[in-house]
Amino acid sequence: MYGTVETIPDLCKRCYSCVRECPAIAIRVEHGQAVVMSERCIACGHCVTVCSQNAKHTKSEAGYVLGEVIPRGNVVAVVAPSFPASFPENFPKVASALRKLGFSKVCEAAFGADLISPKYLSEIERNGKKTIISSACPAIYNYIEMYFSELVPKLAKIVSPMVAMGRYVKETFGKDTSVVFIGPCIAKKSECHDEKVEGAIDAVLTFAELKQMLNENNIDLSDLDESEFDPPEGLVGKSFPLAGGLIKTADIPGDILEKEIIVVEGRSKVEEILHELLNNKINARFIDILFCEGCIKGPAIDSNLNYYSRREKVINYIHDRMRAADKQVWKSNIYNARNIDLSREFENRDKRLPAPDEEQIKEILAQTNKFSKQDELNCRACGYLSCREYAIAIAKGLAENDMCLPYMIDKLEKAYKELQETQEQLQSAEKLASIGQLAAGVAHEINNPLGTILLYTSLLKKDLEKKLESHQPIEDLELIAEETNRCKNIVSNLLNFARQGRLKISDVDVYDLINTILKPVRVRPEFKGISFSVECEADDTTIKGDSDQLKQVFMNVINNACEALEESEQKRVTIKISKDDTFINIEIKDTGSGIPKENMGKLFTPFFTTKKMGKGTGLGLAIVYGIIKMHKGDIRAASDPGKGTAFNIKLPLNLQ
Ligand code: ADP
Ligand code: MG
Repeated sequence: MYGTVETIPDLCKRCYSCVRECPAIAIRVEHGQAVVMSERCIACGHCVTVCSQNAKHTKSEAGYVLGEVIPRGNVVAVVAPSFPASFPENFPKVASALRKLGFSKVCEAAFGADLISPKYLSEIERNGKKTIISSACPAIYNYIEMYFSELVPKLAKIVSPMVAMGRYVKETFGKDTSVVFIGPCIAKKSECHDEKVEGAIDAVLTFAELKQMLNENNIDLSDLDESEFDPPEGLVGKSFPLAGGLIKTADIPGDILEKEIIVVEGRSKVEEILHELLNNKINARFIDILFCEGCIKGPAIDSNLNYYSRREKVINYIHDRMRAADKQVWKSNIYNARNIDLSREFENRDKRLPAPDEEQIKEILAQTNKFSKQDELNCRACGYLSCREYAIAIAKGLAENDMCLPYMIDKLEKAYKELQETQEQLQSAEKLASIGQLAAGVAHEINNPLGTILLYTSLLKKDLEKKLESHQPIEDLELIAEETNRCKNIVSNLLNFARQGRLKISDVDVYDLINTILKPVRVRPEFKGISFSVECEADDTTIKGDSDQLKQVFMNVINNACEALEESEQKRVTIKISKDDTFINIEIKDTGSGIPKENMGKLFTPFFTTKKMGKGTGLGLAIVYGIIKMHKGDIRAASDPGKGTAFNIKLPLNLQ
């Protein structure tokens, strides 16, 4: 089958609107892309209309018409009677525009409708009580041939107005005349390529495509003069695009109209009537079916008007033209066309796939976590009417598991949880690794003083043994004590570090905490001469945090600031507290030695110290960093070597 509609790869965003809208289940989702299967497509064009992403594209013959058909000469444009709805402002200029594009003649398809209408009347009369289904809408007869093939014998063996007009033009204007149909319908494109009506129509354009062609050729309808269509003019056939238009055109008598005629339009009603017909529940003699709600609702009508305004436009046009038309000329045109063959055949092209058995359906439902009836939500997010229909589509190879939204959400939630767990594991593994690194460093650091301790202890031992007093045992003992203290410091810092894993959250008043820390610092003899000031811009400085650990943070930073002031003339430590909506900011600034640029990157690394042996352990800022990160805060240092340093600490007000 001619592939009328195609999917543009990657534009499809998995909304499944087209799946929902496709009456033929002709859309298969492959790797997330909804692809039209040309062999199952009835060319109704609904998927094109509903796709908000423009991922469905109608094959255009515009290039072929402009590049090959028109240059051949002797080309007739046949315009569908719904054109006033597509060109509401300028419809009397459409014929002029088409001539400007290069068409030799511009005729109305309405005359084709006038030609076939009497055929319907005689077919109904000839068939007696048997039901006849109209075959003017190609989407409908495609649908019947492919999915309701038992109804094929009921299709009226009469061509559509388009094909009737094509045959008329070729018969009347010469066999070498080319015919291009222009209308609101996408299915007409598939009809043009239908072998059973071959040769009647050379190409089909939609109104949307025509507008684009006019645009590309700088033809502006408003600049053109109004002009008439070329003969033959159609009469009641002009009402064909409206609901019941065929019945009106065929002038079917009132008694039949009353009870034995059904007019059906629109997708859901179409499906309903075809099922009813299949089940022999309908006894009407004639059923006129259109896939859209009249051709004025055709997928390529390209009109800004609503349904009722479109209808009004077409009706006004019909009234105006009917008054002006020469009925005698029309009658003789119809008479002259009496020998044109307006019949066609239809065939069984059954595309229904065998239904899967119950076991298979159950198995597929289970794959998307549906084990009982309650699990079947029938939410229709996949585009199918129910979970069961969806499972059947999967069994037929038309759908994928990933189209089930609740199943995908569950899957996503599970994956997210797993990811979170992995992340937590990774974090603790990282922590363990850094603790291991730390332990290795500690071992190295402790080894040296311990070596010294051992050496001097053995010396002392020997001295005492020999009872020699010249080795100054007092000084040696002092050295031992000093080095042992160093070990003690390292180990106690290490213990603090290890304790960081857990936070004991409570209300912490940062301002109070800092003042409490400063009290003993102010009186420490080694920090004599330092002036401290605490400036607070915030009225409430309470945050959520671990009081002990935050104490450690401020103590370490303040100690560093004080230690950096040793050589400075001006000894000042300024602490500023401020806050915004989410964070409290503490700046601890000193007028000390500053930090050389090359050391800035190493400040928070364990064991980085520039202090004398026995003074610094290099663990203070590493601990500070760890605690602040645990509090989801941040610490940054800015320093001006020789002038001083400022540490900026940021802590969330409400740690979650
Ligand atoms: P320690 O105090 O044992 O040296 P820290 O981790 O507390 O270890 O600090 C690491 C190093 O960062 C210090 O040795 C020092 O070189 C530098 N430092 C930290 N704070 C300051 C400061 N306020 N002024 C100058 N240098 C600082
Ligand atoms: Mg320190």
